[in-house]
Amino acid sequence: MKTIGYAAQSATSKLAPFHFERRAPRATDVAIEILYCGVCHSDLHAARNDWGGSVYPCVPGHEIVGRVTAIGADVTRHAVGDHVAVGCLVDSCLQCDQCHHDEEQYCRHGYTGTYNSPDRINGENTLGGYARHIVVREAFVLRLDNRLDLARTGPLLCAGITSYSPLRRWNAGPGSRVGVAGLGGLGHMAVKLAAAMGAHVTVLSRTADKLADALALGADELLVSGDTEAMAKAANRFDLIIDTVPVKHDINPYLPLLDIDGTLVIVGQVGTLPEPSTVPMIFGRRRIAGSLIGGIAETQEMLDFCARKNIHPDVEMIRMDQINEAFERMERADVRYRFVIDMASLPAPQAG
Ligand code: NAP
Ligand code: ZN
Repeated sequence: MKTIGYAAQSATSKLAPFHFERRAPRATDVAIEILYCGVCHSDLHAARNDWGGSVYPCVPGHEIVGRVTAIGADVTRHAVGDHVAVGCLVDSCLQCDQCHHDEEQYCRHGYTGTYNSPDRINGENTLGGYARHIVVREAFVLRLDNRLDLARTGPLLCAGITSYSPLRRWNAGPGSRVGVAGLGGLGHMAVKLAAAMGAHVTVLSRTADKLADALALGADELLVSGDTEAMAKAANRFDLIIDTVPVKHDINPYLPLLDIDGTLVIVGQVGTLPEPSTVPMIFGRRRIAGSLIGGIAETQEMLDFCARKNIHPDVEMIRMDQINEAFERMERADVRYRFVIDMASLPAPQAG
């Protein structure tokens, strides 16, 4: 099937229109017309090869919402016309212990990413959701409750689940004290979700500029991470801190904020960090952990939770041809709080 998307041709080139083919649906595949796709900071990291290993052309996008246009012969969960979503995963072995307990993101044989991964069957590099169409194995396609607003649902598929999973794992709820470092795409979802779970929520931001936003999103307070006096006063005040900062940064100021047995969960920076001191870890059994998105069942649970509680991200809708400007603005943290691309703005695929 001929389609059109936007691709980076190298780590230094801007994203530009790209005509390509999607595979014909296999027996267990669902073909989807993409309506909207969120813009994640990971898309920018991948397009610019920040993590190494990017394959070009690179079509980013893993916050996908669309409509089913065709299904393979063995598909049972989805029907033509259904509104569906696809997140960061499009395949895994579905055989190992991790897949068996619904954590496909930790598949022992490696999950297949929505972009920049070799397809398990034909080995071709996967191309993501900055495109008109996508074809995905049905087990990795999520159902959307009709209470969700489709135009604002995309960011739940990555920013939403990446925040939801550690909140659930570390039991955020009434009586728990949650900090969220970095109020961007992931951070603002972490605030909304933690608040909806009943936790006391504090935003840790670089400045006080986002104070009013933080409160409107559901936070109880905002702590300026560079204000040493305020940070010292906040010692031992958190059970859980979710750190979404997308670059190398010093986590030493955050660790003493945790109470005994508290956990700092890093979901932002992938790579090295400046040396953490072990003092707060030893004198307080505090932990540093990481977390990768979430499995398909948990993603469905999160989508259903958001539908029930009417939780949607705050989005700024853009046209596909505004993506390069959107990347630059995201780098400056100038987005409140997630860009979503309206795929109706893409030109038609080339005929012939
Ligand atoms: P984003 O929208 O750009 O938000 C990041 C926020 O971090 C900014 O709004 C800003 O908040 C803060 N920040 C930005 N630059 C900073 C700097 N130089 N120093 C300190 N703080 C800074 O990004 P996102 O889409 O939320 O993604 C965040 C990170 O999570 C990215 O690295 C992304 O690749 C990663 N990610 C991980 C997973 C996973 O599974 N673990 C999933 C998705 C994304 P303030 O203005 O409030 O300080
Ligand atoms: Zn993402």
